[in-house]
Amino acid sequence: MNYHKLIIDDGTELNAGTIYCIGQNYARHASEMGSSVPEVPTVFIKPPAAYIPDGANIILPTFSTNVHHEVELVVLIGKDCHIIDIDKASEYIAGYAVGIDVTLRDLQSAAKNDGKPWAVAKGFYTSAPVSEFVSATKFNGKIPDFSLELSVNNQLRQQDSSAEMERSISQLIKYLAEVFTLRRGDMIFTGTPSGVGKIEHNDKITAELKGYKKLSVGVTRC
Ligand code: MG
Repeated sequence: MNYHKLIIDDGTELNAGTIYCIGQNYARHASEMGSSVPEVPTVFIKPPAAYIPDGANIILPTFSTNVHHEVELVVLIGKDCHIIDIDKASEYIAGYAVGIDVTLRDLQSAAKNDGKPWAVAKGFYTSAPVSEFVSATKFNGKIPDFSLELSVNNQLRQQDSSAEMERSISQLIKYLAEVFTLRRGDMIFTGTPSGVGKIEHNDKITAELKGYKKLSVGVTRC
């Protein structure tokens, strides 16, 4: 299966671009992982092929035995940008969604210990489920705070507000645009709050951007 269309609720469709992800952006999650919020943002990338839409399945790879959910606010870039003023960052946002940064925790831990990249642990096929996007035009140029939730088999596992992020969405856009340039269709996973945990074959995961969007995905073996 090859998914690549992102849908905004104003009817716009965009091709999925690069998926930029921020690590350790909520202090309580950094602490549950045994670390602290870093001086400069921790950034990693998932390829566009990692994206799956609402209703699809996360496919557990054969090469991991500890796959975790991380619920995150996802920001969709609507216009290319490179060097920008931080107070103009909202002009580059097309929409907001809820996503899951699906993580092979065993491979990530091994990579951390060996000083190796996280690409496989974070960027494998189906590692980026994302809901439909709520259009940024609904918020009149402001970047609102969102409440995030994630349940596995109807049990609440994660719940927090994007107001708890250590680095704001504007700061992240300015930083990523300067380092990489950002393009229309790129997404930013803005980091997970605490409560990450294991998912298994046949689990049903629901995530919510409260009041706006829902995401339901299954979990299956290869
Ligand atoms: Mg994450």
